[in-house]
Parts: sequence; structure tokens; C-alpha cells
Amino acid sequence: MVNDWSFRFLNYVIYPSSSFSKRGDAGEVIKPMTPGSLITYTNKGLYCKEGDFYIDPWKKVDKAVITHAHADHARWGMKSYLAYKGNEGILKHRLGKDIGFRGEDFNTPVSINGVEVTFFPAGHIPGSAQVRIRNKKECWVVSGDYKLNQDGISHPFEPVTCDHFITESTFGLPVFQWEESNEVFRKLNSYWKECVSAGENLLVSAYSLGKSQRVLANLDYSIGDVFIHSAIHQSNLALLDQFPSFKSFTHNTRLVKEISKDKNKPFLVLSPPAGISDALIKKLGKHRSVSCSGWMAIRGTKRWNNYDKGFVISDHADWNELNTACLATKAENIYVTHGYSDSFSRYLSEKHGLNAQVLKTQFGEGE
Ligand SMILES: [Zn+2]
Ligand SMILES: [Zn+2]
Repeated sequence: MVNDWSFRFLNYVIYPSSSFSKRGDAGEVIKPMTPGSLITYTNKGLYCKEGDFYIDPWKKVDKAVITHAHADHARWGMKSYLAYKGNEGILKHRLGKDIGFRGEDFNTPVSINGVEVTFFPAGHIPGSAQVRIRNKKECWVVSGDYKLNQDGISHPFEPVTCDHFITESTFGLPVFQWEESNEVFRKLNSYWKECVSAGENLLVSAYSLGKSQRVLANLDYSIGDVFIHSAIHQSNLALLDQFPSFKSFTHNTRLVKEISKDKNKPFLVLSPPAGISDALIKKLGKHRSVSCSGWMAIRGTKRWNNYDKGFVISDHADWNELNTACLATKAENIYVTHGYSDSFSRYLSEKHGLNAQVLKTQFGEGE
């Protein structure tokens, strides 16, 4: 018998569902999640009419509730931003010092026009939160991005029971199952050692917010000197207030511009993918390059072939974590965004008997 699931699975590996499409006029409700529900879907983003606020909107609105500071969730131009308080530094760094920011602690309900809004840790990156929104009738949780495995720098994910759960599915296929991250970092450090023995420098590519701090927290600085791209340094500084332990990154690293021409000992450079310029490659001279990303689990993809090696380190939930998280909410209705939303929502319906559906959003475009 043909295994329908594995056939679909292959299809989705090759053609992940696009999460971006053009929308209608401002404020238009594209598709109510359930008629008259507390959260609706508009062309500006997820909207709570009763509270008159949006969650991670992708167009300019007055009141935005923000899950985390990644570019696809926290966009410029909102009149006010409400987020977990740990995001103040990083949001102001990314969106401007003058933004209207209000920070709240985790597990501390606030009322917006009578609707209760509470932040809970999402474990995705430092400062990342899930948002629970409820009135007397309904309880919703918008997860933003999340992961269940603990990275040692973000507040660990807390499952929150609700009726309606909006989940990401960036890595919503069974092929994505993460190895224990301590083990992956051990391998990264030993690969770096290997480079040093071969007299070669090492370029490590990782996103500037979240992944880079994780790499910096796990590097073995006894192996050699570490230089970082200025975008990573700026993020570190912006996070320092809420995450004082990141001070050690400043002590342990220097900026890429401080690499001197006559440097004779092999070194490591940490840069976001967008920061890898011709000038940087020239500075690196004889080197190897690696990428730290969940996408390294499927290395056939052309965009990753430029790297000598891949380390599967992701700030998103893997397949098992996604399933665990969705079931832990006890939600009857699951809305699936980012990534493999078609296959994952179908799986949730068929395997777990949940009322799951795809929600096409504009998340997943930024980082
Ligand atoms: Zn994110
Ligand atoms: Zn995202």
C-alpha cells in the first residue's frame, strides 16, 4: 500500500507552503477564525476586536501586542507596543528609541478594554513570549515562535491551557528531530579545534538575535580568539539590561574590524548570514565555514550548500516538540502558521483528532 503520509511528506519537503500572499484593504477581515470569535484574522494581522489590539501585526496599527523581537513579529510603525518587559532594550534597538513601549512581566495579567492579556515564556529566544488572550467566554494562546528544549539563555517554554492555540510549524515535519544541543555544541567546538590544527580560520553563520547568543554561550574560548559581527555585538548590548550574563560575551569577543592583518593564530568569526561580505571573506583568508540552523537537517537544499558543514541548532520546536506543545495546551482548535502548516495541521487532525486548520500569516519572512 502506498503510504500517503510519506508521499505528502516528500512533497512538502520540496514545496513548503508559502506563508506570504497579498491581502485586501486595510482592516478587512479575511477569514474569521470562528464566527464572532475573540481573535479574528485581518489583512493587518491577528486582531482582537473586543480589546481593539493586534498581535504581531504586519501593517501599521495603533495597538500592537508583540511576542518577540524577530523582524517578522515585531515591525516598525506601530503607535504602541505591549510586550514582555525583557524586550524593551532589543525592541528599541531594532525599531527606534522613541517607540511607545509598555513592558509587562510574565504571568501578570493586564486588562485591555476588559480583555485579559498575559505573557508566558516561549523559550524561543531571550525575551520571547506566548500571549494568552481571554474574556469570560474564550481563551486563546498565540505562541509566536517557540521551542521546548532549553537553551540556557531564554526563559523555558511554559505550556498554557487554552481553547484556541495558534502554533508555528517552521519545522513541522517528522524529518526534523533535534539532537541534544549540548552534544551539537560539543561537535562545533571540536570542529573548531580541527580548523585550528589545520591552520584555518572558522566562519560561523548564525542569526544575530537568539542563535548568536546561544553560540556565544556555548563556545570553548580556550580554543582560540573569537570575533563577532557588529550586528551581533549591538544585539548583545541591547539585551544586557535584562540578561546580565551576556556581559561575558563582551569580555570573550572582539569586533570583526579588530582582526589585524598580521594575525598569525587561527580565529573564529561569528556573523549573521546577511553580514557575510566579500570584505569579511577576504579578512578570513584560508578558512572553513559552518552554518548553525535547523535547516541543516535537510542539507540537500541549495541555499545551504555554500557551507562546508552544518550544525543542526534551531530556536524552533522540532517535530516532537510541536506535537507535545499542541497537545499540552489541551486546545480543541489549533491554527497552524509558518512553514509546513498544511501537512502539520492535517497530521494534528488525522492523528490527534484535533480541530486544526492552516492560518496563512506573514510570519517567517524576517529572520
Ligand atoms: Zn522568531
Ligand atoms: Zn517567526
